[in-house]
Formats: sequence, C-alpha cells, structure tokens
Amino acid sequence: MFLQGKRALITGSTSGIGLAIARGLHAEGAQVVLSGFGDEATIAALTAELSAIHVPGDLSQREGVEALMAAAGPIDILVNNAGAQFVAPVEEFPVEKWDFIIALNLTAAFHTARLAVPHMKQAGWGRIINIASAHSLTASPFKSAYVSAKHGLAGLTKTLALELATFGTTANCISPGYVWTPLVENQIPDTMKTRNMTREEVIRDVMLVRQPTKRFVQPEDIAAMAVFLCREEASNFNGSNVSMDGGWTAE
Ligand code: NAD
Repeated sequence: MFLQGKRALITGSTSGIGLAIARGLHAEGAQVVLSGFGDEATIAALTAELSAIHVPGDLSQREGVEALMAAAGPIDILVNNAGAQFVAPVEEFPVEKWDFIIALNLTAAFHTARLAVPHMKQAGWGRIINIASAHSLTASPFKSAYVSAKHGLAGLTKTLALELATFGTTANCISPGYVWTPLVENQIPDTMKTRNMTREEVIRDVMLVRQPTKRFVQPEDIAAMAVFLCREEASNFNGSNVSMDGGWTAE
C-alpha cells in the first residue's frame, strides 16, 4: 500500500484502461478521483468499489477540465487517459471531429497538468502519466487527428518532464498497441459489416495485423505499468515513452 495518502485523478476512468488504472492505484492505497461518462448505476457501483469520488464533465471543453480540477482538489498522481478516435481520409475529415479529438486527447492534458503542477511542485512529489498510443510514435492512414494528438501528447510529456525534474515529479507516457477494451470490442461488428469479414478476420487481419505478438494488450498490464511509474524505483523514468505494443513500433 505504498500510495497511502496520495490522491490520484484518472481521466476517462469509467471504463477500459482508465478504470483498470484506477483499480491498480486504489489497490496500493491511493485515494481515487474518477472522471468520465457512464450511467448512474455504473458510476454508483464504481465509486462504492473504489471509495472514490466521481466528477462528471466533458473534458473536450476547457470549462469541463477546469471544473474537474476544482472539484478534485490537490492531485499527487495525474493520469491523462480520456481519449477518442475518428477515422476518415484527411480531405473528408470533419473539422469538428478534428477539433474534438485534439481537445480531448491533447489539450485536456495541458489543462489538467497546468492546474495540477503547482501542488506537485509545492509538495515536492508528483507523477504525471499520459496514456498515449503506438500512434504517438508511428502513424496509420485515416487517423490524422488521433496521430497528431498522440504525437503532441508525447511532446507535452517530455516538456513536463524537463520542467518538473527538480521537483520530485516525473512525467511519462505509456503507449499501448491494441488493448482489449469496450472501445475496441465495439468496433468489431461495424468492421465486420464494412469489410465483409468474420469476427476472427477482423481481429487477425485488421486489429492485430501490426501487433507482432498477435495478442491484445490487457488493461491490467497498462495499470501495472502505471503503478510501477509511481514507485520510488521509477523516479528516474522521466520523459519516457513506454511502449506496450507487443513489438509494433520495433519494426
Ligand atoms: P474507453 O472508451 O474504454 O474509455 C474512454 C474513457 O474516456 C471513458 O471513461 C469515457 O467515458 C471517457 N471519455 C470519453 N470522452 C470523454 C469526454 N469528452 N470527456 C470526459 N471523458 C470522456 O477507451 P480505452 O480503450 O480505455 O482508451 C483509453 C485511452 O487509451 C485513450 O486515450 C485511448 O486513445 C488510449 N489507447 C487505447 C488503445 C486501445 O486499443 N484501446 C490503444 C492505444 C491507446
């Protein structure tokens, strides 16, 4: 329980990777602040399970992030995880989707960081963990906004690492390949239809085609890395981009 007395905010923690990280940090004694969308019953169950508070709000809006940070109070561990994807050729990419994806995946992390950093500096201890993607290191066609936002998030992480290095505070990103979450599972039926493929073909020939292990990363694997990055032994991980992609970006 090495995180007792620490307060952790995980954005987008009502499902998938964010929820797994919230569970991992809670298991080590951190006081958890949840954010993200979900029905009332789900959120009530999660706040009870994790003895957590939940702050609603749309983090693609600056006001939503500012309200979250005001309600969350001083944060020792900031996990920027909320994110969304949209796929279209660049000349057809809806401008409002571009704005939304950059706002949620990148700008929200700037706002949470700028508001969390004063407490971390004052306390002389902090952890910022940004959930980027293999797409922070490499590109895929039709994902212009997502790839740009995730490359930007990796750059923001490095800048924070340099600014905070002498304040006992680290900033790193974790860059997963395909992770088995509701986000990914829900894409399967549509992809089956549009590509006229079976479920197995979608998984093998679309999703895992670039993931050398041919296996999904599990949300709990990402959570274990996030917990490790909070340890004292990890205090020299600073400005790192930790790939957890089964070897995708090693190519
Ligand atoms: P998910 O859809 O399961 O969870 C996303 C979370 O973000 C949810 O809690 C949702 O409510 C919240 N959210 C969405 N829009 C929001 C908004 N406007 N304001 C506030 N909260 C919002 O997704 P996931 O697969 O767990 O992905 C989490 C992060 O991991 C994302 O940043 C994603 O880009 C990244 N990632 C995922 C994968 C993958 O294969 N699943 C791979 C690489 C990176």
